[in-house]
Amino acid sequence: MGLQRLVGGRLDRSHDWRVPLGAPVVCEETGNPATVGKRFDPAALLDVLVKASGPVALGSAHLHDEPTILCTGGFAASPELVEHHIRPAARLRLRANPWSTGDGLSHALARGAATSVGLAEFYGRNMPDAEWGEADFVRAAQLYGRHARIFDEDGREFFTAGEVSWSETNVVQATARRPGARAYYLLEKQALAERIRERTVAELVAAAPPEARVDPADLPFEAPAGTVVAVRVVAAITHTIGGLAVDERARVLRADGTAVDGLWAAGVDAGGVAAGGYASGLAQALVLGLAAAEDIAY
Ligand SMILES: Cc1cc2nc3c(=O)[nH]c(=O)nc-3n(C[C@H](O)[C@H](O)[C@H](O)COP(=O)(O)OP(=O)(O)OC[C@H]3O[C@@H](n4cnc5c(N)ncnc54)[C@H](O)[C@@H]3O)c2cc1C
Repeated sequence: MGLQRLVGGRLDRSHDWRVPLGAPVVCEETGNPATVGKRFDPAALLDVLVKASGPVALGSAHLHDEPTILCTGGFAASPELVEHHIRPAARLRLRANPWSTGDGLSHALARGAATSVGLAEFYGRNMPDAEWGEADFVRAAQLYGRHARIFDEDGREFFTAGEVSWSETNVVQATARRPGARAYYLLEKQALAERIRERTVAELVAAAPPEARVDPADLPFEAPAGTVVAVRVVAAITHTIGGLAVDERARVLRADGTAVDGLWAAGVDAGGVAAGGYASGLAQALVLGLAAAEDIAY
């Protein structure tokens, strides 16, 4: 709760820090009425931050002598860690960079760190059960569970539209635990006209490759009356929600609540901030990164 308050409470101040650096604001709103914040272009923002930070060295580093902020992006790209902590019914597809394999987590654990709550949780999207790549991460995401009837391959309706959270994270996590980590989104005619931000449900369906779009008559179970469209989706992980235990100064904690000397964690290496739901991973990275830097500096 304290970490959630920290991220929510410091987000605006953190934006105020980076805008004068020259970070181009694409939109003063997120485009989602359930959230607050600004929209930045990630690549342009990265350029600005790299220029402002001076020389950036890539590669391995010896991490014991200097104050260190871990920010390796969690462990979504490690099938072994995902299997161990999240326990999906089948391997989750990766909807993120392939390098976040839990290096921050293992480094801190070796130095006596504790893990947070929420290790079995993740943020992701239900994606078409088809080939897709990085350019499709947003474009092809099937983000209309709230307007669909949701069945697993055995024909069991395992989630009702009313249960789907605003971010749809809970339906993705539930899909991960159904056979094949797979589900069918079934739509009635009137659902196709519903809007999700700037697109209609029909447009989101059209963004799925044809092999994921199933004729209702060809489903492996009998479709409910009124179904006009069915899309086969798979659970895909974007980032982990559990990670290292940290305090409000972003210090990495041991199980007894004391801080590990010289070690901080930011972004989704820090765990538990959004356990039980979803909060912006970018906000978590920005606010905890600044909190860690300030703690080191002062
Ligand atoms: C398609 C997509 C859309 C998204 N949309 C949003 C959104 O609208 N809003 C939002 O809040 N979040 C969004 N996210 C999530 C957001 O990008 C992440 O939550 C955020 O980037 C996490 O920040 P981070 O610094 O923890 O990790 P990352 O940004 O993942 O950075 C971690 C970096 O560490 C590197 N790394 C890993 N291991 C090592 C190592 N051993 N040595 C050196 N480097 C290493 C990785 O290569 C990576 O570059 C989106 C993600 C995706 C994929």
